[in-house]
Amino acid sequence: MPSAALPVPVSGPPDGLAAGLPAGLAGGPGGPAARRRPAPPRHLADLDPAGRRAAAAELGHPRFRADQLSRHYFGRLTDDPGDMTDLPAGTRAALTAALLPRLLTAERELTCDQGTTRKALWRAFDGAYVESVLMRYPDRVTMCVSSQAGCGMACPFCATGQAGLTRNLSAAEIVAQVVAGARALASGEVPGGPGRISNVVFMGMGEPLANYASVLAAVRRLTDRVPGGLGISQRGITVSTVGLVPAIGRLASEGLSVRLAVSLHAPDDELRDELVPVNRRWQVAEVLAAAWAYAEATGRRVSVEYALIRDINDQAWRADALAALLAGQLAHVNLIPLNPTPGSRWTASRPRDMREFEARLAARGIPVTVRDTRGSQIDGACGQLAASNQADG
Ligand code: SAH
Repeated sequence: MPSAALPVPVSGPPDGLAAGLPAGLAGGPGGPAARRRPAPPRHLADLDPAGRRAAAAELGHPRFRADQLSRHYFGRLTDDPGDMTDLPAGTRAALTAALLPRLLTAERELTCDQGTTRKALWRAFDGAYVESVLMRYPDRVTMCVSSQAGCGMACPFCATGQAGLTRNLSAAEIVAQVVAGARALASGEVPGGPGRISNVVFMGMGEPLANYASVLAAVRRLTDRVPGGLGISQRGITVSTVGLVPAIGRLASEGLSVRLAVSLHAPDDELRDELVPVNRRWQVAEVLAAAWAYAEATGRRVSVEYALIRDINDQAWRADALAALLAGQLAHVNLIPLNPTPGSRWTASRPRDMREFEARLAARGIPVTVRDTRGSQIDGACGQLAASNQADG
């Protein structure tokens, strides 16, 4: 396993959902120290519009100030009191300090693809690191965000999985990653002219469904219209999971039309137990049954993520087994050439094996694409920037 790691992972069971996980899968025992970990400062993006008004009133301000602040943050993408000329000069500083605290500080920013891929490493109030990636394509802009600092799911091919869970992010810490991207786009900093974020994928660090309440609140903030939130289409949001079955069921009942992605990586329990250890709790059949119920409830095609790992999960027979599992379902397979993590014994599949795997799925009528590996030269995927930042000191 790579030696690069985030600072001492301290964790409790994420959101109670991990209560049923086998020992070790929740990222370590949640002792009293974990429970004392201070929470991030409260921010208006943690609250729904009614909660924001109540917070403004508690602070001794008129309730409508909350809407004004929300328009600044979600509409004009600013949290700078100097921009808030509609607020009495004497209250701007106090209001922004109380409801729009800066949650994330850019520690490093890297770009590639002529500036259209931008990766940010953020430092939170307590020194925890998270990362986000903005990817601009001709027809869309996708923000890949983190939902936790670290991750407790321990998938051995994933850089974040090696470090364990540090903590859950607050809803506002998740939203702040998107606001930062939206601001860079709106200001024309990203080549291609001023633009807007069309898609948000929860495929950065962390297991979003192990931080359910914050992720759900963040999805509401991302998709509610200004001043409630950023006004991104629900159809543009993808929540990616290792397969926490009860949480998939809960998400299906929220009345949202966000896309679900399931990180399958193997069609058989024997191999999946190794690649995605939570499989020992919820096996392939159960995860896929929850995924199909999600598709049924939302009408959205489920994305099945499959990282192709040379000679591990890329055999022709596994392609056939995967096709058999997905036949007739509302599903689409995303093949991802493995992005090797430092020190890993695993690497990406050979191009001919990838082509064969893809062809076997396609031949059985399964919609399949090979995901582009944008940003891999800047450690664009999977916790690698946070990990290498530690390694560099
Ligand atoms: N915990 C969630 C979301 C974060 S990871 C999940 O597992 O779905 C986002 C995707 O990147 C997942 O499909 C994950 O399996 C995949 N991934 C992680 N490490 C990878 C690597 N080294 N190469 C390719 N894909 C990887």
